[in-house]
Amino acid sequence: MPFSDIVGHQQQLETLRQSLEKNRLHHAFLFLGPEGVGKRTVALSLAMAVQCLEKVGDFCGGCPNCTQIRVGHHPDVRLIEPLPGKKEIGIQQVRELERELNFHPFSGRKKIAILDPATLMNASAQNALLKTLEEPPRDSLLILVSTGAGGLLPTLLSRCLRLSFAPLPVELVAGFLVSQRGIDQEEARILAAMTMGSLGMAIKLEAEDLVAKRKAWAEKICSLDPKNYRGGLSLAEELAGTREESLEFLEWLEGWYRDILIYRATGSPQGICNLHIEKSIKDQAKLYDLERIVFFLSLAVKTRERVQRNVNRRMALENLFTEVLGID
Ligand SMILES: [Zn+2]
Repeated sequence: MPFSDIVGHQQQLETLRQSLEKNRLHHAFLFLGPEGVGKRTVALSLAMAVQCLEKVGDFCGGCPNCTQIRVGHHPDVRLIEPLPGKKEIGIQQVRELERELNFHPFSGRKKIAILDPATLMNASAQNALLKTLEEPPRDSLLILVSTGAGGLLPTLLSRCLRLSFAPLPVELVAGFLVSQRGIDQEEARILAAMTMGSLGMAIKLEAEDLVAKRKAWAEKICSLDPKNYRGGLSLAEELAGTREESLEFLEWLEGWYRDILIYRATGSPQGICNLHIEKSIKDQAKLYDLERIVFFLSLAVKTRERVQRNVNRRMALENLFTEVLGID
């Protein structure tokens, strides 16, 4: 299987291919880029390319090594994530990894570890890893995967070769959804726009049927009527169900007001993420001036922050809708 079967990031993959061919692969990488664009896929593909027994193209995908990597059971390829029920990658995990990296590879060419997300390493775990990076064991390869370099020690960063992964072009995501997931062209275009170049997110949204959910939310917001404040109260009650649901709605609401703002300011749907409800956005943009829309947007942000801080969800949402309806 060639690297070119992977969606996007061909330049990064070419860099990796060339260093593999010259047998000069760096011992530590940092893969940086937004959620859902394929960083882990590239990390696992690189692991296969290193360990593959057949070497058909970049890797064969079917030999025992490739198969074991794909199902997550290769003795020389470790994926380090927070342990179940834990929020962090702890120092114990890193120490264990360090010990393992010093053994000879079992059936592969290198001992490989993928730390994802690397920013979940707490400070002591990062310090422990730094020691490994300063004196990398022979035939070891570390891949740190992260959406940002923020929470990582500068000394750690300086030891890793950085590869950046940009959001995928919207057309590429749409094309993949059509060809690989059998999604209808129009819906694929909408999903790809909604997720702004995150293939992982597009697949998740599709699976959860979020397009329909978002459409229903938009209809409810549009039908709020200042003369009927009870409508706002019952919508608040409906959306206050669980914290996750409320947050999901409020995140969407921010995007909704941002779209209306874009439309009001530019008169064009270019750059909006709710393409499937373009007409409702157009209609709403006609109803309010810029200042009012900015006010709604800030209300949505404020309400999301309040719900994140675990305030009473129903009350926070009631306040929001009361303000949107202009009721004192
Ligand atoms: Zn193989």
